[in-house]
Amino acid sequence: MKITLNPNAVPAAQRDELVANCGFGKYYTDHMIVCDWSETDGWAEPELVPYGPITLDPATAVFHYGQEIFEGMKAYRQPDGSISLFRPEANARRFAKSAARLALPEMPEDLFLETIHTLVRQDAGWVPKNVGESLYLRPFMIATEVGLGVRPSNKAKYILIATPAGAYFDPSKPVSVWISTEYVRAAQGGTGEAKCGGNYAASLIAQKAAAAQGCDQVVWIDAIERKWIEEMGGMNLYFVKGKGKDATVVTPKLTGTLLPGITRDSILSVAKDLGYKTDEVMLSIDDWRDGVASGEITEIFACGTAAVIAPVGQAKSSMGTWITGDGKPGAITMEIRNHMLGIQHGTIADTHNWVTAIK
Ligand SMILES: *Cc1c(COP(=O)(O)O)cnc(C)c1O
Repeated sequence: MKITLNPNAVPAAQRDELVANCGFGKYYTDHMIVCDWSETDGWAEPELVPYGPITLDPATAVFHYGQEIFEGMKAYRQPDGSISLFRPEANARRFAKSAARLALPEMPEDLFLETIHTLVRQDAGWVPKNVGESLYLRPFMIATEVGLGVRPSNKAKYILIATPAGAYFDPSKPVSVWISTEYVRAAQGGTGEAKCGGNYAASLIAQKAAAAQGCDQVVWIDAIERKWIEEMGGMNLYFVKGKGKDATVVTPKLTGTLLPGITRDSILSVAKDLGYKTDEVMLSIDDWRDGVASGEITEIFACGTAAVIAPVGQAKSSMGTWITGDGKPGAITMEIRNHMLGIQHGTIADTHNWVTAIK
C-alpha cells in the first residue's frame, strides 16, 4: 500500500480530548484509504492519504444514478490496550455481495481487510478507551465513470474513513417506533439485502413520518402482504417471548428483503450460549399487538453495529399504540447486550472465533 502521512495530523493531546467527547460521526481520523477500480485495469494499489475532500466531475455516475454501497464496522479497545475487530470477514463478504447487486466490482476479501487493518493501525490513537466506545469504520464504494449514460459504471472508487464513536446508550430511553403501512423499504428482487445508500434515500420520508408521529424510528413491514415485520430503520429486530431461562428469543426470518445484520446473526448464537431458545420467524403486526397485550412478548430490542442493542418500548401504527415492558430495558436485552460488548472488548471469552486482533 502507498502511504502518504498527514502533515497536519491532530496533535495527540488535542486528539485525546476530541476522542473523550466524540459523540458519533463528529470527528474523523487523520487518514483515509482510497482505492480505484477500472474495468480495464481492475483494482489499483490502495493508498493511505490524509483525510480530506475529494474532487469529482459533476457528471460522475454516482451523483445521478445512486450506484453506491457501504459497510459499517468497529474497532474495539481490549483490556491490554490492543485493538480488535469483530467478524470483519463477514463485513468483507457482505460488501462483495452488495457490490454484485449494485453492478459494482467485488473487492477481494483480503484487499478489503488490508485496508481496514492499515487504517486502524495508522490511526490507533483515535480508538477510544472505554467499553461501549469504539472506532467506527465506514468503507464505501461509488461509481466514478463520468457521463450521463445509464449503464453499470466502468470505474469505481473505494474509500475507507473512520470516526470515533462514544457510548450513546441511554437505558432510561427505550426507542419508540412507528410501523409504516404507507411506505415500502424493499421487495423481492429489489435491493433490500444490499447495504446501499439508495435504500436509505428511499426510507427517509418514512423516518420523517415516524418523527411526525412522535416516534424515534420507523419499522418496515413486507411489501406484498403488508403485515410481516421486517426490520427497524438501520437495525434488525428481536422479540423475547416468555421470561427467565424458559424465554425464547426470536427475530424475523431473512426472506430476501431484510438486511442480514452481523449483529443479528451473532445474537442468534449468543442467546443460545446464554441458555435461551432462539428462532427465526414470520411475525405479523397482529402478533406484535397480541403478544404485547397477552404478555407473551416481554421484551423487544433492535440490534446493529452502531448501537449494538437498543430496547424498543412503544410501538405505534395506524392500528393503535402498544407498549412493551415498563420503560426500562428488559433483563434478557441487557444480558445479551453486555455479553456482546464483553466479547467485542475482550472481557468475555470469544468461543466463536469472532474477534481478530489488528495486525
Ligand atoms: C447495517 C444494517 C443493519 C445492521 O447490520 P449490522 O451488520 O448488524 O450492523 C440492519 N438493517 C439495515 C437496513 C442496515 O443497513
